[in-house]
Amino acid sequence: MRILVVEDEKKVARFIQQGLEEEHYIVDVVHDGSQGFAMAETEKYDAIVLDVMLPGKDGIAFTRELREQKKSTPILMLTAKSSLEEKVGGLDSGADDYLTKPFAFAELLARLRSLLRRGAQDKTTMLSLGDLVLDTVSHKARRTDRAIDLTAKEYALLEFFLRNKDRVLSRTIIAEHIWDYHFDTGTNLIDVYINHLRNKVDTGFEKKLIHTVRGVGYVMKEE
Ligand code: CA
Repeated sequence: MRILVVEDEKKVARFIQQGLEEEHYIVDVVHDGSQGFAMAETEKYDAIVLDVMLPGKDGIAFTRELREQKKSTPILMLTAKSSLEEKVGGLDSGADDYLTKPFAFAELLARLRSLLRRGAQDKTTMLSLGDLVLDTVSHKARRTDRAIDLTAKEYALLEFFLRNKDRVLSRTIIAEHIWDYHFDTGTNLIDVYINHLRNKVDTGFEKKLIHTVRGVGYVMKEE
């Protein structure tokens, strides 16, 4: 899951980024509203964490304009303490939820998870395919009774595959969701990571779940 964080207070932005990365999210951070808006228009995000008071473009105008473009990316707005006007304005502009500063990171995480679930077709926290199960809260995976140890990137890949099972995913789509803005699409890094994941998920099992679609990309499905 890829998240855009638009927050001009660098300390707060870093705190959110660090916390989200520890939870295996892929995070892009921008400190300016206009720049953030340009990213939200052109890149694919699963959710946006958006401060209200921003240089360039404020969070309310940001949200309103994004919604006018029919972009429904879930938005969690960060509002100033006790400013009822900001909360109401934020929700009226089309934000999905808000969080009052200062906040505990655990609450930001819980609200973000809830927004991501609302947007997903599958609302459960457990994803599965055949005998493979992934717990999106504890980040633990297992196949039959074998636990699978995943790195942060492998977890992100597996979650993305399982949320899109039976769908062929091109390298471009994978890069857009699993790597941040600075990713160089000219490398074979995606194939390298998928091979690592495949070793962990499929090696030793007769039934393979990760399949290469030659010239197109990858798909996760039961044969
Ligand atoms: Ca601010």
